Amino acid sequence: MISNTPRIITVANQKGGVGKTTTAINLATALAAIGEKVLIVDLDPQGNASTGLGIDRKDRLISSYDVLTANATIEQASVQTEVPGLWIVPSTLDLLGVEMEIAAAPDRVLRLRNALRVASQRSEPFTYILLDCPPSLNLLTLNSMAAADSVLVPLQCEFFALEGLSQLLQTVQQVRGSINPQLEIQGIVLTMFDGRNNLANQVVQDVRAHMGEKVYETVIPRNVRVSEAPSYGKPAILYDLKCSGSQAYLQLASEVIRQERRLRAA
Ligand code: ADP
Ligand code: MG
Repeated sequence: MISNTPRIITVANQKGGVGKTTTAINLATALAAIGEKVLIVDLDPQGNASTGLGIDRKDRLISSYDVLTANATIEQASVQTEVPGLWIVPSTLDLLGVEMEIAAAPDRVLRLRNALRVASQRSEPFTYILLDCPPSLNLLTLNSMAAADSVLVPLQCEFFALEGLSQLLQTVQQVRGSINPQLEIQGIVLTMFDGRNNLANQVVQDVRAHMGEKVYETVIPRNVRVSEAPSYGKPAILYDLKCSGSQAYLQLASEVIRQERRLRAA
């Protein structure tokens, strides 16, 4: 990998409420805190990443919708957040209509990839770009997989975790066989873990048994401070650095950095 191209990671899982947005926001914040220049692209019409980073709806004048419809560049759509070193391309409800609007375009799956390529030619490109996906394997998620180097999968520690995972991995396989042969699995991160729950412990063991070293050592605990943070428009790491959830996300970031160092040395 050429060292000044950004590492593009899509945070994907077709299930809702598994911690995609929380992971995108807090991993991005942790990476920015250690000096990386980071961009989040909010690809969910719900706009939870945008809200969670304090971007008011009225300030979302240019959004990921405009990028996907090729009416704006990433640079034009990026908004600086309260976190130094962290930018976001916000989303709006317009995204709900994007699938129909671009369905007939031959490059419909490549819209985001093309936009990000232009962005990486800037003199000071982002070093990490995280894509926050909607809870579906739709055209938005496919755009993210076409554009990304790798997929980071948050898995909630609950009974059906592995079932949803195999469907996701199949999609990754299909994308690899068609539009993006380089796409890798960055890793699987177990989220909302509650150690008092026997089932959660069982799920952690099962996922590790099936997915081996693809599973991060860091497990994100269920933590009320993490769930409170978005309503203040802040990442948990800014809202309460000391809480167990923030500490876990910092640890996850250091695992990701170690992975990247290995990749770049290879
Ligand atoms: P997704 O983006 O996959 O839909 P979210 O990141 O929005 O999932 O998380 C779903 C809900 O769970 C949100 O209300 C979020 O605040 C909450 N949540 C996420 N991670 C944690 C955690 N570690 N502890 C407590 N609540 C969490
Ligand atoms: Mg989300």
